[in-house]
Amino acid sequence: MEKSLAVNLSIEEAPKQWYNILPDLPEPLSEPKGDLSILDKTMVKECLKQEFSKDRFIDIPEEIQLLYQQIGRPRALFRAKNLEKLLDLPEGIELYYKSEFLSPTGSHKVNTAIAQAFYAKKEGFERLVTETGAGQWGSALSFAARLVGLKSTVYWVRAVYQWKEARRQLMELYGAKVFASPSQNTQVGRKLLKENSEHPGSLGIAISEGLEDAGKDEKAVYCLGSVLNHVLMHQTIIGLETKKQLEKIDRYPDVIISCLGGGSNFGGLALPFMHDVLKEGKKIKFIAAQSQGAANLQGEYRYNFADYAGFTPQLKMYTLGHQQEMPPIKGDGLRYHGCSPIISLLRSKGFIDTVAYPVDEKHVFERARLFVRGDRDLPGEGYLPAPESAYSIACAIDEAIKCKEEGLKKVIVFNISGHGFMDMPGYKEVLGLK
Ligand SMILES: *Cc1c(COP(=O)(O)O)cnc(C)c1O
Repeated sequence: MEKSLAVNLSIEEAPKQWYNILPDLPEPLSEPKGDLSILDKTMVKECLKQEFSKDRFIDIPEEIQLLYQQIGRPRALFRAKNLEKLLDLPEGIELYYKSEFLSPTGSHKVNTAIAQAFYAKKEGFERLVTETGAGQWGSALSFAARLVGLKSTVYWVRAVYQWKEARRQLMELYGAKVFASPSQNTQVGRKLLKENSEHPGSLGIAISEGLEDAGKDEKAVYCLGSVLNHVLMHQTIIGLETKKQLEKIDRYPDVIISCLGGGSNFGGLALPFMHDVLKEGKKIKFIAAQSQGAANLQGEYRYNFADYAGFTPQLKMYTLGHQQEMPPIKGDGLRYHGCSPIISLLRSKGFIDTVAYPVDEKHVFERARLFVRGDRDLPGEGYLPAPESAYSIACAIDEAIKCKEEGLKKVIVFNISGHGFMDMPGYKEVLGLK
């Protein structure tokens, strides 16, 4: 019988610390530029401390370890046996995927939402404010706020708000107040609505609105779901678990793949392995899968704002420009102008490769369908990925096919950042379902 189709960890084996890559980077991260006082005013203090910490490992408080249990961690690592058969891969090419889609709100974002909500509560805040693009981060933060007993407010990019009714209802079910952004709530929003009452919004604009809202209320605090160092650090729980799981079956990855918007799920899986590359001389190929409509890793490496209005300090990152318009895509969580400073630095030093798929998304959705259903008389893996995660799957399949053609033996590990149960309209449109 085939062994190790799913590799699990016990609660005892769950990681007790997050990994902070800052002290291990090939050179120090460039400091943020500009007025940093907005960070002190709007962010959770503990998160801000973690953002600049030089400690390689940071303890996960016991309360957060329990919350991780509650959301179903540790999560399984699956061998994609059906997919391997479908692709007719020779022995020696193995595919493994991490199951971040087995999440109460549908994505990896709960891993940091829970930590941020816990610290905010501890510091006496009463309300969490945030932005959301695809809706996954808004759902995760609404859920986390509710779990620790806080209120939440979500500014949601209008173009997406309009077609994801069920996700809005989910956030409201958790008790969140959800506004289409730009909104009438803030100066930034009112100005943009005056110019265009049907303004589609953007993640950058929604961040500006959230910061303005949180800045006006001392009981409110602003939370970000990607890009920042502490967010990627919380997400390393993904890679730390994966590392232990691979050790259990005596495997080590040659290739690590995930989709990348701001960099949190990619970084979460990749950074604990990047440690081995930087410090132990291991060789791993890292590939970030993006959309050609928002290929921020192919932009310029320079200082830029994180939001539309320029409220934030400037970060040194790969960017398309903070007011760049990007075409709508179903994988909306990948539609952000900048990439995390940590990932950007590693990319600039040649440690990370990137691919970008066409804006029509046909290729990625067809790959997702193959993953879900299979082909001919061969079944697929059955799990329905979020549109963003479909990029990860497409990239893993493309890479496996390339290895086969070149006669290489590789262990390929990829992350599936979320499920697509609330994204069927996207599947319908791109794949032409009835
Ligand atoms: C938010 C999101 C992404 C993109 O964000 P990263 O910070 O790059 O991970 C990808 N997949 C899902 C399911 C998401 O919710």
